[in-house]
Amino acid sequence: QLSQRLKTVADFVKPGETVADIGSDHAYLPCYLVKNNRVEKAIAGEVVEGPFQSAVKQVEEDGLTANIEVRKGNGLTVLSPGEVTTVAIAGMGGPLISEILENGKDRLTGVQKLILQPNINAISIRLWLQEHGWQISDEKILEEDRKIYEVIMAERSADVKKLSEEELLLGPVLLKDKSPVFIAKWKHELVQLKKIKKQMELAEQNTSLLEKKKQLEQKIMLIEEA
Ligand code: SAM
Repeated sequence: QLSQRLKTVADFVKPGETVADIGSDHAYLPCYLVKNNRVEKAIAGEVVEGPFQSAVKQVEEDGLTANIEVRKGNGLTVLSPGEVTTVAIAGMGGPLISEILENGKDRLTGVQKLILQPNINAISIRLWLQEHGWQISDEKILEEDRKIYEVIMAERSADVKKLSEEELLLGPVLLKDKSPVFIAKWKHELVQLKKIKKQMELAEQNTSLLEKKKQLEQKIMLIEEA
């Protein structure tokens, strides 16, 4: 049974696409896509030996070795330009996903769609997409096992619409939809940020008190000496 998170990623893949799943771990996503006749061919990329072996094993167990090629390597280096139409990168932090895209941008020739699922810091992905000619065409947000996930789909565009600061942080589509999960995520975030702000203010007060105490001690010392 595929997680709801990966199912949401999979739902962005349309029939006829060829997919590379980078950081595939158990290759659950490409296996699901082939088993459900969404795609005929897929590539699972993985840089770490353990997860790479898990992917190989899973593909063999599912009898999908003719459809899914498991390749070991860092990020997009496992791809040749023009090999796939769609790249999925899921289950990592936003900065790591952006780094994989940045380091492998020459391998994205021929790729028309990116499906990205950052666990945290989606803003770094939106910034990267905007700066590299990718338009966010859809976004989803979901809650599973008390965690909230965002999924971003982007397509190439010669005329990328510049996102506002608000859209970069919250997501242009998610901001429009304002789903209950979206509201819950940002209400929670707001509480956390306000807590941090309060702690900073307290720390600030403490340092200014310390400063005042020092000045007082200096004055006392001067008077006593005199
Ligand atoms: N994509 C799967 C998912 O969403 O369930 C697996 C997520 S798992 C938390 C992240 C995987 O990405 C790990 O197996 C890790 O080894 C792999 N990974 C991290 N950096 C990578 C990179 N630069 N290139 C390829 N794989 C990478």
